[in-house]
Order: sequence, then structure tokens, then C-alpha cells
Amino acid sequence: MKKKLIIFDMDGTVYLGKNLINGAKETFDYLNQKKIDYVFFTNNSSHDLDFYFRKIQNFGIKCSLEKNFYSSVEVTLSYLKDLGVHLVYCIGNKSFKDKVAKSFKYIDRYDENVTPDAVVCGFSTELVYDELKGACLYLEQHELPFIATNLDWRCPIEDGLYIPDCGGMCEWIYHCTGKRATVMGKPNPVMIDYLMKQFNVRKDEIIIIGDRLYTDILVGVNAHVDSVCVLSGESSSEDVKKYEHKPTYVIDSIKELPALLEE
Ligand SMILES: [Mg+2]
Repeated sequence: MKKKLIIFDMDGTVYLGKNLINGAKETFDYLNQKKIDYVFFTNNSSHDLDFYFRKIQNFGIKCSLEKNFYSSVEVTLSYLKDLGVHLVYCIGNKSFKDKVAKSFKYIDRYDENVTPDAVVCGFSTELVYDELKGACLYLEQHELPFIATNLDWRCPIEDGLYIPDCGGMCEWIYHCTGKRATVMGKPNPVMIDYLMKQFNVRKDEIIIIGDRLYTDILVGVNAHVDSVCVLSGESSSEDVKKYEHKPTYVIDSIKELPALLEE
């Protein structure tokens, strides 16, 4: 098949925690040799892209921070620019707020004399109660765009454990205000639109590969882009059978991607 851009999920697809998936390095060598572009996309908005760049580079995979990394944070910022907002109410880690501050003014506490143009929620591992309280007070009183970086309810950490993620935080706000966030990361197909522009490719020239059905595979379905589910992470072949939306292809791991692309 003729593909020009591969969008990679990372955890469960390229690596598992600290360990590179067997054959991953050879797969990226193949893509470089064939001059097929790739981008690593993460829904996780609690780390900046430099964190992922260093991790992938340390595995010996050829990559550049500017070209090969994209996250729900970049999608969110592009979306906010398209909305034409100036002042943003922001929940998130310092790295997220620093990025927002490059393009917008932001506040992260409630002030009855100030009304923001939008409320934005990122995955925060530095969350304090007053941030959530302020978001709720603004959303209760004003019809504001409410935007979340990602819908993941929980985030995998070491030893098969999970911590609360952005989706869980938004659920908390929903139960307080009745307002649902518009989610920017996977499975929202808007990320595909931005990547198509950035890499100057058509939808039929893209393939997305990942291990999670309700984000990685669903974004492919929603965007009408081919998808590959790898069985090296969260999903088993039983899960794929049970899930209502089917990936275009299923392979055991990233190791098999070159053979699939050769078909
Ligand atoms: Mg994954």
C-alpha cells in the first residue's frame, strides 16, 4: 500500500513503559529508508513534547522534536487560535500553561471581575482544588467554550496501575456544572486535519497505528483514515472482535508494519 505519513501512538505501540517493543527500531529504519514520514502523537498533555522526544531518541530512533512530535496540546492550541480567543482559563501542569502563555493570556484562578473567553482543561498531575473550582464557577455562570485536551479517564503508569487523567477531571466538572467538554485529542478527527496540512498529505496517504481501540482506532474511523491495531499493548484480539468499530488491519506488533506496508 502507498502511505506517506504514519501516525504512531507511543505507549503500548512503540514501547511498553521503559522497554522498546521488539523490532521497533528496524521498523523505523525501514520507514527512513523508504522516506515515509512519521509522527508520534500522544493524548497526554501532562508532559511537554521534549519529554517524548528524549525518550524516543534514547531508544535510537531517528527523530526531530520539531517535525516528528505532536500532541493533544498542539491540537488544542490550534483550535483555540481558530476560535479567536484571547483570555483562557487554564487547568493543567506548568508545562501546559507555559505553552498556552506563548499564544494567549491565561488565568488559573477565579476572579469575579474577569471573564475568560474559554475554559481549557489539560491532564494535570499538579492539580489543586482552586483550579477546578474556578473552572466550575465560570462554566456555571457563562456560556463559554469548554475544551479538554483528551478524554482518557485514566493513564497507565508502571506495574499495571493507573492514575486519574483528563477525562476523569472533566467528569468531575460535568457533575458540578452539567457542561461537557469538547475533546481535542484522539478520537477527535480534527488532529488529522491539522497533520494533513502540516505534512501536505491526503487522507488516503495516512495510516494511524495504536493499541487502544477507543482512541487510536476510533480516530481513524472518525477521520476515514486507515488504522492498524497492534496487540502489543492494551487490546487483545478478543477486544478487537468485541469492539463495534474495526481497525483496517490488526498485527501482533510494530515489527510487522514493514511487511504490511509492502503488501
Ligand atoms: Mg497506547
